[in-house]
Amino acid sequence: MQLDQADASLIIENLNAVRARIARACVSAGRDPDTVRLLLATKTVPAERISVAIRGGASLIGENRAQELIEKAPALDGCGAEKHFIGHVQSNKIRRIAALVSCVQSIDCISTAEKFDRVLEETGRVLDVFIQVNTSGEDSKFGVPPEDALAFTRVVAGFAHLRVRGLMTIGLLSPDPERCRPGLRMLTDLRERIRDAGIENADVTELSMGMSTDLELAIQEGATMVRIGTAVFGRRPTPEGFFWNENAQRS
Ligand SMILES: *Cc1c(COP(=O)(O)O)cnc(C)c1O
Repeated sequence: MQLDQADASLIIENLNAVRARIARACVSAGRDPDTVRLLLATKTVPAERISVAIRGGASLIGENRAQELIEKAPALDGCGAEKHFIGHVQSNKIRRIAALVSCVQSIDCISTAEKFDRVLEETGRVLDVFIQVNTSGEDSKFGVPPEDALAFTRVVAGFAHLRVRGLMTIGLLSPDPERCRPGLRMLTDLRERIRDAGIENADVTELSMGMSTDLELAIQEGATMVRIGTAVFGRRPTPEGFFWNENAQRS
């Protein structure tokens, strides 16, 4: 794909605007802007456009689908950005995913965790993982129910080659911030409960929450990582359900 200059400039402009939003949100929440990392959600975005953002200083990217991760990997090899996996994990793709990312943010099933552990055992590598929690209660979202998160974290922390580093949620997407806030707050509360439990081999520090429309709210509620796609790369051609829900994917 030939990248046109106007598109590249827009990506950089958008990236800077998002950084400014993060900084402002931190200041107004009384937080140090260095405590919030920007992850670029790059699903459907071609490697050429992702590379523009990386040259513009983006240091962390997240992919939702193993197939896309694999296809873009050669073009992004050596780009210097850290890669996370933020989508639903299909068990037949675990080996490829484990080889290409430093963190999987979407662990919500014990058998998936177990398969990652088994694959990692072969090389002795340890993979960072986040537990995905369904804070919105919507059937359309992946993630463990909040009431199961503590027990679930305990089990995942028991796998020798996984290190639980945080929690992730896709919050309720509503134009009304007060409807979104309880889910975000729930993730912060869960992190405290999990920390209080003092689980061995778990260092649950990160809170990955907040997207293009609600990053300010997420920062107010304690996010340490916001995942931004649209606000940097523009609207995607594919409906969201394609990435978040298997049923929607089939229909
Ligand atoms: C697409 C996606 C995002 C980013 O969403 P935008 O609204 O485009 O910023 C964040 N997290 C996950 C898991 C995603 O799939």
